[in-house]
Amino acid sequence: MFKPGEVLVQGEHIAEVGPAVKHPAGAEVIDLGDRTLLPGLIDAHIHLFLHPGAEDLQTVQESVPERTIMATLGARDDLMAGFTAERDMGTEGAGSADTAVRDAIDQGRIPGPRLRISGNAINILGGHEDAIGYNPEQHVLANADYANNADELVTAMRRQFKEGADFIKIYETGPDSVRDGKFTTIYQYTEAQLEAAVKDATRLGRKVAVHATGEPGTLFAAQAGVASIDHADQLSDETMRLMKEKQIFAVPTFTIFEYFAEHAATPQQAAREHQMLDLKVEEFKKQIAAGVPMAVGSDVGPFPHGTQAREFVLMVKYGMSPLAVLQADLLNGAKLLGWEGQIGALEPGYLADVIAVTGDPLQDIGALQNASFVMKGGVIYKK
Ligand SMILES: [Zn+2]
Repeated sequence: MFKPGEVLVQGEHIAEVGPAVKHPAGAEVIDLGDRTLLPGLIDAHIHLFLHPGAEDLQTVQESVPERTIMATLGARDDLMAGFTAERDMGTEGAGSADTAVRDAIDQGRIPGPRLRISGNAINILGGHEDAIGYNPEQHVLANADYANNADELVTAMRRQFKEGADFIKIYETGPDSVRDGKFTTIYQYTEAQLEAAVKDATRLGRKVAVHATGEPGTLFAAQAGVASIDHADQLSDETMRLMKEKQIFAVPTFTIFEYFAEHAATPQQAAREHQMLDLKVEEFKKQIAAGVPMAVGSDVGPFPHGTQAREFVLMVKYGMSPLAVLQADLLNGAKLLGWEGQIGALEPGYLADVIAVTGDPLQDIGALQNASFVMKGGVIYKK
């Protein structure tokens, strides 16, 4: 940490960082006054292809072209909020349309964060993300690709990689329920099936992430060696031990839980969502105490893109220090997204993903909710 701080950017990369750096002749000087410079923020759990409103119906009612246009707007909003790198955890029924969005961003044709994408997520027949409750004659499409055993998992993954996925997202648990303070969730794949998935992804140098909220699904995922356990509402002692040992990240996604609790359709539903959030907060404290490594992901999409810096505020509110949350976001996020040593720090040789906020996020983490300067790869998007 420097005060004052200067960053010299050359092309896409950072050349020098310190209290004062070289000012080469002809360099453009941007004076951001007393604002705080930080590495671009990382959101490890997003959905560009979702927007507020009935999630399950978006697949049914909206065409993939329509959803792709919406995704480009979401990508722009996230970038303008200071998120320069994101991991998209599933198009939810838009197949591999995220490949086009990622590539257009990479080619500089549209503004957006650098992306790691997963295409559709993977799910079992009749599972958490299947289209249940419709007239069977309508043949309503599921929000995820089907795989019912290890062989089918590997086949679905290879198809997704072929179509452009960077990593694989698997639904490992759901639906969830809380009754009398007791949380339960149904698992979808066995440990052996997840292990087969992780093995084939590893063969290609890729990762597997799971939506997993509780036991025994989270234990199966930790045993199989996934890269992250997303939501991670309730973890057993053994799961937490394995996550610490194998450096498997928990991605709590508090913002979506808060949003659902505050935007429930009925008072009964609101009470259920609040009960879930309360349980999650208690469990999060145990996870911090157990040394479970954390990454920061908001699950933005079902709530408006560009507003997800709320996740930092909630992680601090529920027990982490501002510094620990920033390290979880920037350092762990860079590792989880496979950009370790390239993003997540202001250091020579790193990509020039730089943002500025008013105030000191270490004193008030809420400062991250107002990024007023955004640079990605040396290109200024907001000033
Ligand atoms: Zn999600």
